[in-house]
Amino acid sequence: MTDLAARLDNLQPVPVVRVFIEELGTQHAVAPDRRAGYVSLRPTLRDPIAVYVHRNRISIAITPPDAEAAASRIDGAEIVRATPATSYVILTAAALQGREAIAFELALAALQWRANGVRRGLGTGGRDASTAVEPDLCPDCWTELSASGSCFCE
Ligand SMILES: [Zn+2]
Repeated sequence: MTDLAARLDNLQPVPVVRVFIEELGTQHAVAPDRRAGYVSLRPTLRDPIAVYVHRNRISIAITPPDAEAAASRIDGAEIVRATPATSYVILTAAALQGREAIAFELALAALQWRANGVRRGLGTGGRDASTAVEPDLCPDCWTELSASGSCFCE
């Protein structure tokens, strides 16, 4: 069993979410992290989070200028403007159902972007691009996680 499959077994997402994420894992390297109510995916552990997997929804990282257009392609998609550098397209299981191909494009692009963009880090970096880092956020309240990966809202 892969790392990803083991973590999905533990999370128990609904089938449409599970199948989608397993397929994503066959198309791109993913480093999964099991947190309180979700699994986060990033290209490698040095990279920022690309996709959050919940039992009944997924959240896909996207650049803020691209968020509106991407969300408009999927009925029921919502946008969260999480940080100046990153927005997230939120898809419930119902929104994902039947729209897997478009969502797959977005999720794959998110992994590719995170693999080539800013590094992961606590929000202590400088303001210029050379030292900028992207913090890990809680996908429930969208505040920055502590170094241990926990959030006060858990
Ligand atoms: Zn939180």
